[in-house]
Amino acid sequence: MDLKEWFASRQKRKELQENIKLPLTTEDYCALWTQCFQCRELLYTKDLRANLQVCPKCQYHFRVGALDRIEQIADPGSFVELDSEMTSADPLNFFDTEAYAKRQKEACRKSGLKEAVLTGICAIDSQPVALGAMDFGHFGGSMGSVVGEKVTRLAEEATSNKIPLIVVSSSGGARMQEGILSLMQMAKTSSALKSYHEAGGLYISILAEPTFGGVTASFAMLGDLVIAEPGARIGFAGRRVIEQTIRQKLPADFQTAEYLLKHGQVDMVVERARLKEVLSRLVSFHDINQAGKNTAEADEAGETNRNGAVKSEQLAK
Ligand SMILES: [Zn+2]
Repeated sequence: MDLKEWFASRQKRKELQENIKLPLTTEDYCALWTQCFQCRELLYTKDLRANLQVCPKCQYHFRVGALDRIEQIADPGSFVELDSEMTSADPLNFFDTEAYAKRQKEACRKSGLKEAVLTGICAIDSQPVALGAMDFGHFGGSMGSVVGEKVTRLAEEATSNKIPLIVVSSSGGARMQEGILSLMQMAKTSSALKSYHEAGGLYISILAEPTFGGVTASFAMLGDLVIAEPGARIGFAGRRVIEQTIRQKLPADFQTAEYLLKHGQVDMVVERARLKEVLSRLVSFHDINQAGKNTAEADEAGETNRNGAVKSEQLAK
């Protein structure tokens, strides 16, 4: 189902609900309320959704699916999906307790998506950008061949269209069912981002709860700007694995967005309500043609060719 169909079916469902008032089942009652994971407050699901899935009592940021994320960031109706028909194969005929093919089908049924990332071109306050959003609800947001390929193609699309690139990551890491093929995606995405960087593009990486493993080890941390959502857990290996390896107790806020900000690993922690506004401002600062020119000039002058340094000069002007 592409994004247009999803919106159409949601609209249809809404109309049906408004016309026919059926008695609520127990499941409906449960779906009406959501308990906050942090403050335990019982929240009306509709209000929670209207508040961008952020608890109004304690500001806990609930996980957001790829479709909702795009709806929150992109101008309404502006998102045009790329590579919507791309699906994973099962090259290793992988079987653990269940066949990989069966797990894939189950993941698609649960999330309503074909893969753990949605990519496309959209507008943010009428400024064109290439946007990718990962969905932790699909196979734990794991990066297999298709996720890697879609992110790579998105970076290439941003390079050829000379537009800013934004990727929202939320992932448990590489998809082990695809073995070495999933690990190769780290090199592939990084290489596409390097080409984009050399063309003077602006890449903003957003880290949402949780971002781990191969995604952190590749495109999630390669942003010219790395933004994290409040409270998001970000790391490579999990806390328990590290504690067992180094045999030390880690601080309570270890691997949180705030901890990483304090230690210089992310540039900003931005609450969800302000995310679109911040992205819009950052994108408006950037001019890819100008950035390319300045980089070339800096190279000629034998100065640093790190785009970041050139960009901060531009921002300062
Ligand atoms: Zn709460």
